[in-house]
Amino acid sequence: MNEKKLSRREFFQRAMVLGAAAAGAGVVLTGCSSEKKAAPKADAKGGADKKPAAPKKKALKCDDVSALSDAEKNTRNTFKYVAKSTDPAKNCLNCQLYQSKGADACGGCQVVKGPIHPAGYCTAWVKKA
Ligand code: SF4
Repeated sequence: MNEKKLSRREFFQRAMVLGAAAAGAGVVLTGCSSEKKAAPKADAKGGADKKPAAPKKKALKCDDVSALSDAEKNTRNTFKYVAKSTDPAKNCLNCQLYQSKGADACGGCQVVKGPIHPAGYCTAWVKKA
């Protein structure tokens, strides 16, 4: 009888020790997995990993008139061509005389020679039909 009580006591002691060990192992494993998620990887310079930045869009420039004759340059001046319209309702993109090569490219014009900015304007502007 005495042996039976001892073995029962022993059984509960061992069960408690095993239970505590299992709980402790669970805490350690959980700590490891969350540590992996929380810690950012360092790059060669010691900084944290970052997503590569998207390349910045270059501003469209349509001001190279080096290939134009003096007469063609004079036409630009005569019609007071500017690369940026001051009137939001009037620009080369909505002008009947504009020869578009897409909204992100320099276009042409039937009157003003050379590269024409879609957002440009001149006094020969005609509303697009
Ligand atoms: S006429 Fe003037 S406003 Fe029209 S597309 Fe040519 S430069 Fe632009």
